[in-house]
Amino acid sequence: VAKDDGRNRFAFYTKEMTRKATLYMERDRDLRRGFDMGELVLHYQPQIEMASGAVLGVEALIRWQHPTAGLLGPDAVIPIAEKSGLIVPIGEWVLREACAQACAWRRAGLPPLQMAVNVSARQMNPDRLPQFLKTLLDETGLPAERLEIEITESTLQNEDDCLATLLQLKRLGLMVAIDDFGTGYSCMGSLKSLPIDRLKIDRSFIRDIPEDRDSEAITEAIIAMAHRLNRTVIAEGVETLAQQDFLRSRGCREGQGYLYARPMAATAVAALLAERFGLAPDLS
Ligand code: C2E
Ligand code: MG
Ligand code: MG
Ligand code: MG
Repeated sequence: VAKDDGRNRFAFYTKEMTRKATLYMERDRDLRRGFDMGELVLHYQPQIEMASGAVLGVEALIRWQHPTAGLLGPDAVIPIAEKSGLIVPIGEWVLREACAQACAWRRAGLPPLQMAVNVSARQMNPDRLPQFLKTLLDETGLPAERLEIEITESTLQNEDDCLATLLQLKRLGLMVAIDDFGTGYSCMGSLKSLPIDRLKIDRSFIRDIPEDRDSEAITEAIIAMAHRLNRTVIAEGVETLAQQDFLRSRGCREGQGYLYARPMAATAVAALLAERFGLAPDLS
């Protein structure tokens, strides 16, 4: 009986593994199809100067306009693409699309914005990403300092490639931000050795302000450290006025979150900016 149990369990595991592998392959194939068909789109979330409400920049966030499942978030795209390597061409598409959009807004007469783009660890290839970005900036004419690359602390774990890539990106004049700051393990050391311009305080700390004293203390410490190190800092996931008040009182100038705006289509960003600046841009 015991033997049978073991065999059954083994059969169950293999069946489960086969099912997962099949599911993954189906999703991967569907993503390749969607990518080829132009179903990926970018939404943009404004980054706000809290004192004035001015929009200083936007972060590009990927979406998948799926033919049957509707509008899907990055969770439906990024993990699959990272596994298969498709993240490299998709990531390059994101960078190209974001730069083209930034240029289109400039041509429409909107004030210049920072364009922040998330970049995965697998894209941090010193033999590929810098050359790709140099060509892209040359072709589009977007000033390098308008483009900000967001990497997470886990990306910094592959130290050699990451450092080599970052040094080249800084030589091109791009800005570099650490995303979800405070959630990884190597955050302090990486600030000493890497050319980082900006810290994005992770949403999980902001979420628990003002109820949680520890989150307040950590947020306060990150802001102070960023300033001491001559880095800029922005808070992610600002949803309430109480959070904004706390951040401002601790010297944080910039915020991003639902309190100001959700991620939105490019046309909606242009409309929002046009309204604020009293412009009537050509949105075509
Ligand atoms: P992230 O870079 O930390 O982006 C911020 C996420 O927080 C976004 O989720 C945004 O919609 C959400 N968010 C912003 N403000 C608030 C708020 O006030 N409250 C709450 N609850 N959430 C807020 P989204 O768009 O689902 O993106 C999730 C993650 O997917 C991003 O986290 C980023 O790591 C990744 N991602 C998105 N686009 C790309 C991409 O083009 N390439 C790569 N490699 N990763 C991407
Ligand atoms: Mg980000
Ligand atoms: Mg983040
Ligand atoms: Mg995140």
